[in-house]
Amino acid sequence: MKSEIQKFFKGDIDDTPETLKLYSHDASLFEIMPKLVVYPKNAEDVKELVRWVKENKKNDPALSITARSAGTDMSGGAINDSIIMDFTRYMNALVSLSPDRKEAIVEPGMFYRDFETETLKHGLILPCYTASKSINAMGGMVGNNSSGEKSLKYGSTRNFIKELKVVFADGFEHVLRPLNKKELYAKVAQTDFEGSIYREMLEMINKNQDSIQKARPKVSKNSAGYDLWDIYDSKNEVFDLCKLIVGSQGTLGIVTEITLSLVPVDHASKLMVVFMNDLTHLGSVVDELLPLRPESLESYDDKTFKLAMKFFKDLVKAKGAWGLFTFALSFLPEFFMILSGGVPKLILLVEFSGESGTQVALACDEARQKIAHFGFKTHITKNAREANKYWQMRRDSFALLRKHVEGRRTAPFIDDIIVPPHVLPEFLPKLNAILDPYKNIIYTIAGHAGNGNFHIIPLMDFNDPRTVPQILEISEKVYNLVVKYDGSITAEHNDGIIRTPYLPLMYGPHIYSLFEEVKKIFDPQVILNPKKKVGDTIKDIEKYIIKPDAPHITHNS
Ligand SMILES: Cc1cc2nc3c(=O)[nH]c(=O)nc-3n(C[C@H](O)[C@H](O)[C@H](O)COP(=O)(O)OP(=O)(O)OC[C@H]3O[C@@H](n4cnc5c(N)ncnc54)[C@H](O)[C@@H]3O)c2cc1C
Repeated sequence: MKSEIQKFFKGDIDDTPETLKLYSHDASLFEIMPKLVVYPKNAEDVKELVRWVKENKKNDPALSITARSAGTDMSGGAINDSIIMDFTRYMNALVSLSPDRKEAIVEPGMFYRDFETETLKHGLILPCYTASKSINAMGGMVGNNSSGEKSLKYGSTRNFIKELKVVFADGFEHVLRPLNKKELYAKVAQTDFEGSIYREMLEMINKNQDSIQKARPKVSKNSAGYDLWDIYDSKNEVFDLCKLIVGSQGTLGIVTEITLSLVPVDHASKLMVVFMNDLTHLGSVVDELLPLRPESLESYDDKTFKLAMKFFKDLVKAKGAWGLFTFALSFLPEFFMILSGGVPKLILLVEFSGESGTQVALACDEARQKIAHFGFKTHITKNAREANKYWQMRRDSFALLRKHVEGRRTAPFIDDIIVPPHVLPEFLPKLNAILDPYKNIIYTIAGHAGNGNFHIIPLMDFNDPRTVPQILEISEKVYNLVVKYDGSITAEHNDGIIRTPYLPLMYGPHIYSLFEEVKKIFDPQVILNPKKKVGDTIKDIEKYIIKPDAPHITHNS
């Protein structure tokens, strides 16, 4: 295979055992050994390789291409058993940045951290950045429809995509953008592969309009399944295939260039911390705070809090002597809280941003007054340094836990559930009731309370024979609960290997059959990232789950 591809491919090709081993992992709990890793120099390479795979698929049905950016996917979306195409080595440029139009064009392999350095020079930001923003890349954000702490106000990656260049399964690069009626019908009239995609997608959407709209998830963020509900905006008569490609995990096309819109960075922000002793009123607190338009409404539980205090030493590392002293001093109230046994059940971080310090201080005061009747202790942070302490607990505690627990590894499988925020008071105790009997599993709950999105990433011992059956048992129970409360099995981390088998549970057989139809329309030969979004089973989860001695996260970032 390598010698054949070398004849036309300008980028690098690697099949050394070390490279294959590295690319057999992403940040998920799976391991699949690929046959080859390729690093395209440009879109020409991508097109040529897709054409070669298409032509050779008949003789070698196992051939496929899985696009990969930084490989931090937690669902197993960036691994597969044939060719892995890594964009971070060459296709990582910022093509252009237009500060006046607040727009950037970027290649998929550019790391978000590098992209942000450039946008910040112009006072602009892509606000759907993730908690993994120092290690992930732009192509993966598009592939997964990623989002993060500012998504309460700004939404997910899909909201920021203006245009995509995508290599379809025909081996040609196509420009996708919102089309008006006339432009759409011109596409539909084309006799090529692109024409057939537009024709068949339009037909499918028209035929199933009611059931598609009924299946639209009732949550503010969703990365489960194919996003069928936003492709056709019937009110404005706009048809936009970008909506579908974003979040499709490279199963419908390979993204070669991304045009994004950006927002100005706010000049001031202020954080209010709410210490909640019981969760009964969580939904009502969130409901009352949301109309005040906080930029972030994040949370972490008592286990996270205790963990941060336990491993405090690591949390304050690398701050220098004076920095360490002042940072440590700022934690005194928390230490007293622990000593007096008064650890709150949940800590809410409510951040407001705006043009001036006065504006955000007023917003915090208003928020404090609005929720005063619940009787929870609140604290408005005095400065950015103090706010940072709370943010650090939210962002770093999980990494701390991973580092300190011997013989266990992270097991993201119910890592990204989301329910409408108003059901949280009922939902969270039921979730805890499912998890609590599993005494061998260590877990914390943190997340985006404003969206009702929680990240539960347990630590599990993969030498323990109970682990795999427990993963499947808990998934089934938790996803049934999520569906009962009109939630989604994944808000931002996407389906991959770990959640694809549960898509019929979430959407029902009809919508899942439409997902299968979409895959057939775009990728009839199944050459693009197979077994993600459709075709993956519980047996695949069992088959590809990491072996006990496998190394920890080995993404290529
Ligand atoms: C510690 C940690 C924290 C995280 N926090 C968050 C978070 O806050 N929010 C969040 O949304 N996610 C989070 N994630 C998950 C992950 O980091 C994000 O989904 C990220 O955006 C993926 O980017 P990547 O470059 O690593 O993509 P990859 O892992 O390389 O790929 C992700 C998916 O996109 C597809 N893809 C990649 N490139 C292309 C392309 N060129 N064309 C088509 N498809 C492509 C891949 O096939 C794969 O299915 C976290 C992960 C970790 C390890």
